[in-house]
Amino acid sequence: MTNQPTPAILRWTVLATIALVVLLATASALMTRSKQYPQARACSFNLKQIQRAKLAWASMTNPPGDSPREEDLFGPAHELKNRPVCPSGGLYTIGKVSEKPTCSIAEHNR
Ligand SMILES: [Zn+2]
Repeated sequence: MTNQPTPAILRWTVLATIALVVLLATASALMTRSKQYPQARACSFNLKQIQRAKLAWASMTNPPGDSPREEDLFGPAHELKNRPVCPSGGLYTIGKVSEKPTCSIAEHNR
């Protein structure tokens, strides 16, 4: 007689451990995603607002170039009073009217 667990018990222990690890990994991934998702969505909304402001600027003025300056888009005289800020601290590139503005956080540009 030995103190070794029988193979069946050993198998169930291994399976239970694997199941627990998978469960914890999934829960942690879901929690991380649910924390990031609203920020990415808010950022995407900001980028859309910036693009709308660029198009409004281009249609209202006869722009000398294709790239608006910050003061062309944001301020008391404009629909966007303040420059939108990425909730995750990403930096925005306004870019040309013909291009979409981008956030320095790659996942926010999807
Ligand atoms: Zn962002």
